[in-house]
Amino acid sequence: MLGADLVGFQRAQAAHNFAQLCAKVLNVPATDRRIAVEDRVVRIGAFPVSIDMAEMEQLARRPDVVARARQFRADLGEPQHMILSVDRMDYTKGIEHRLKAYSELIADGHIKVRDTVMVQVVVPARERVEQYQVLRDRVEHKVGRINGEFGRVGEPAIHYLNQPFDRAELAALYRAADIMVVTPLRDGMNLVAKEYVAARVDNGGALVLSEFAGAAAELTQAYLVNPHDLDGLKLTLMHAKEAAPSDVTARMTAMRDHLRGHDIQAWARSYLTALDHTGSLAARLTTD
Ligand code: UDP
Repeated sequence: MLGADLVGFQRAQAAHNFAQLCAKVLNVPATDRRIAVEDRVVRIGAFPVSIDMAEMEQLARRPDVVARARQFRADLGEPQHMILSVDRMDYTKGIEHRLKAYSELIADGHIKVRDTVMVQVVVPARERVEQYQVLRDRVEHKVGRINGEFGRVGEPAIHYLNQPFDRAELAALYRAADIMVVTPLRDGMNLVAKEYVAARVDNGGALVLSEFAGAAAELTQAYLVNPHDLDGLKLTLMHAKEAAPSDVTARMTAMRDHLRGHDIQAWARSYLTALDHTGSLAARLTTD
């Protein structure tokens, strides 16, 4: 890493940790902005990656996507609350923590399956390693148990889909969902959280977000949660579910404002500007 001129991290805290590590292990002068290595200076900083907000907004406004969102809700039986999660099959995503919280809320009578449905999309893992198969078996076992115990004929507690969705389908799901639950135990950024915010051109929708996702450093108006804290996760889910529409809208509006100024273009510009002070690299980005 120290062979680079500039090392970018998702969070300022990560840049700080790296500087501390270099100072301790290599005994070199290091601040949160610069590390001196022999005769060179390596610059470090936070460059939180983002999404193409304009593209997602455009998609979310498309009449076929709006119609598809309506169709999803109709297919789900017009629930009062639709909860959505979209994850890659990975231990870091906190899928099991979320399922446990959800099933306990049903068992405790706080959530009624008829009023509330959960849609869990899990994209197959990138690697074909045994551990992912083990995780998949555990997740599917849990979903099966929850549906077996709490579902009714034609009314499963959890709609579980282990398949990739294309962008238009995802945008429709984002628009349909009242609550998006993103609970990784550790995640550099989590683009799904940002995509949900971008898709909510109606300023609606509540985002429940793990404080351990990089996105939490930016989307501070989300309903933030520690996924290891089961009671806290249950309380936060209920808080988001029962929040006043004005609170939901105020939070979503603020997050959308932030994202507009911190989209993928802004990310590329800031990275290139840091790399090349003259600004010529960044200028090329906007003119190409
Ligand atoms: N994604 C997708 N189809 C799906 C589920 C996810 O195209 O069915 C995309 C999603 O839109 C996002 C990416 O996969 O852009 C996941 O990125 P994220 O940072 O949330 O998680 P990662 O898998 O990189 O840890």
